[in-house]
Amino acid sequence: MIKRYEKFLEKFDQKLETYFSLHKDLIKCKKGCAACCEVGEYPFSRLESEYIMFGFQTLPQKLRTLVKNNISELKKIKLEQNGKRFDYRCPFLVEKTCVLYKYRGLVCRTFGLAYVADGVVKLPECANFGLNYSEIFDPETSEITLSNPIEEDLRIDKIFQSDLAKGYELEHGEIRRLIDWFTTPFDSD
Ligand code: SF4
Repeated sequence: MIKRYEKFLEKFDQKLETYFSLHKDLIKCKKGCAACCEVGEYPFSRLESEYIMFGFQTLPQKLRTLVKNNISELKKIKLEQNGKRFDYRCPFLVEKTCVLYKYRGLVCRTFGLAYVADGVVKLPECANFGLNYSEIFDPETSEITLSNPIEEDLRIDKIFQSDLAKGYELEHGEIRRLIDWFTTPFDSD
């Protein structure tokens, strides 16, 4: 399954490259900006969570310990939230860098891109603070004037239902917030 998923990712990344290049004049993503990984819920399917944990095993011990501590800390805070919506910094973000970039989820690959979902253009959060698509978005009126929107729903359940994914017969399993894939206490070794 992992091999099939990696083959799918290769094609999916190629497709995203064409989307990013279509909107390149409106996209401000650059090395060192990790705004998308600082606050969020990060929906991950079982397949993606298994893949990222597969990557986790390749990390040096020191990084593994650091990430494990991040996860344990987040699990503790989440418990204290008592079921309220919980947005958090991704535990794999270390010094503004994703330590599992190659193994990151589908949602991470689409970060920064605007696309059409349920008939409306869905903008990345950073449009609200002057980054991607800020030239075509008015935060006061929420008006978006994008002449060439990406006409593909890039939410992860839709990605797995796409013709591209169907060709790889992926069994993606349940979708949960990334943090909910980890046990308490988190033990991966
Ligand atoms: S897995 Fe990596 S890219 Fe995805 S949210 Fe976490 S740090 Fe960001």
